[in-house]
Amino acid sequence: MQQMTSASVSRSAKWNGSGANNEWTRADWFVALSGELGGACNIAKKLTRLEKSQRGNNLDESQLHAALANELSDTLQYLLLTAHACGVDLEKTTIENFNLKSKNLGFPERLGPDGLYFSGDNE
Ligand SMILES: [Mg+2]
Repeated sequence: MQQMTSASVSRSAKWNGSGANNEWTRADWFVALSGELGGACNIAKKLTRLEKSQRGNNLDESQLHAALANELSDTLQYLLLTAHACGVDLEKTTIENFNLKSKNLGFPERLGPDGLYFSGDNE
């Protein structure tokens, strides 16, 4: 996650340019994030229409799945950039939240720096 964030931040600085006129506000990042998630939702709607044989689709299932994958990927990129813009260490917070939820609900799954592991106790 840290590598993806670093790459996204580096590219974004080149993409948006530098200087006060090019700085995005926190709200700008959330709008961009919402736009990508909204795009994914729209494709999910189209998949539902396709599955229910309803009108309103010009793409087949495989095209819609590819489009959904692209929009979800864009959403992840903007989530990383939005978290960075807000000063949130998303990897650290995600690991802490995941492990706390697992502990509170009695699940053995835990996340660590090297990935998934299973806790035998309620640590
Ligand atoms: Mg997109």
